[in-house]
Amino acid sequence: MATRNEINQQIAGNAWTSSYPYENLLRLCDDFGHRFGGSDREHRASEFLQSKMTEYGLRNVHLDRFPMYSWSRGSCFLAMTEPVERSFSAISMPYTGSGSYEAEVVDVGEGEAADFAEIGDAARGKIVLTDAETNRPGESKSHRTDKFQRAVEAGAIACIFINQNPGMLHISGALYAQKPGGPNSSDHEAAIPGIGISYEAGATIRRLAQRGTPSVRIRVENSTFRSHSSNVVGDIPGGELANEMILLGGHYDGHDISQGASDNAAGAVTALEVGRLLSPFAGQLKRTIRIVCFGCEEIGLLGSWQSSRGFAGNQPDGNLRLMVNLDGAGRGQGGQEVVSATADPVLQRFFEQVAKSLNLKFVSSSSL
Ligand SMILES: [Zn+2]
Repeated sequence: MATRNEINQQIAGNAWTSSYPYENLLRLCDDFGHRFGGSDREHRASEFLQSKMTEYGLRNVHLDRFPMYSWSRGSCFLAMTEPVERSFSAISMPYTGSGSYEAEVVDVGEGEAADFAEIGDAARGKIVLTDAETNRPGESKSHRTDKFQRAVEAGAIACIFINQNPGMLHISGALYAQKPGGPNSSDHEAAIPGIGISYEAGATIRRLAQRGTPSVRIRVENSTFRSHSSNVVGDIPGGELANEMILLGGHYDGHDISQGASDNAAGAVTALEVGRLLSPFAGQLKRTIRIVCFGCEEIGLLGSWQSSRGFAGNQPDGNLRLMVNLDGAGRGQGGQEVVSATADPVLQRFFEQVAKSLNLKFVSSSSL
């Protein structure tokens, strides 16, 4: 049996010379494309990842399938009717339903709680205009979905999100279902439509609004339908503490408007690669390692919820000791990697020591 040091050397050597993660990344992005939760593309990607886990010698490889409601993008039309007539390019945010809406626009700026408090009842029956996300480095401001919820509670009939990133790209991001778990497809749609526009379009609307109260017309047509998704699961059985488990995963689904390379095909193929590197050492590692490529992260962490059910109560899947999630892995330009350790400050110190011993630069934080 190889010593621990020899195992480490073999794994490190294999990792440094492997081109598998990049090849698998290309397959996920170029062959399957966006991999939106519950779509055909996501299903095909799950089968691909399953076949790779089997090929790499992981054990107990299977798809952990769960039902969900998926969404398909149709048309989206946005036009200003006052004080100037002109149309803007816009897209529906996932889970927006269908319909036509026309009303005055109420601009809530960054859309923080204080901004909504300031306008009082002024958004009732109107269309809210808000920045999507305005986090600057080191800041933690409201999430897009928090702003959307505020718009719903303020009685708005629709919400327009402005991309915070300069340029002509639209912003996207799933919106909450109005009655999650309801029996009808419409229960799984957002309470009001949300549409995304570019930074430039947002700046134009705000400029024109200085000439008089703006009104806009929105027409959206999308469909929400019953589907399913799967987590892709494979194990490397442990040795002396085989009943204890370390879970390493990353989501393989993405937004429907891009191929989701960095968020998060890169994380999924990295988890898969760890499975490939460790599988020859089944029985020689202390604990069982479980690799999970999660489905439906972008539309409400559905795959993670499904996975966590296996560890609830009497823990039929073993004694889970640590979960490492890779999201946005590889997105940094070097030196921007972040390890966010939750639940236990001991973890933060552990990762800081790992960084030091490997001469890596990454930020470590601990939050609960
Ligand atoms: Zn992600």
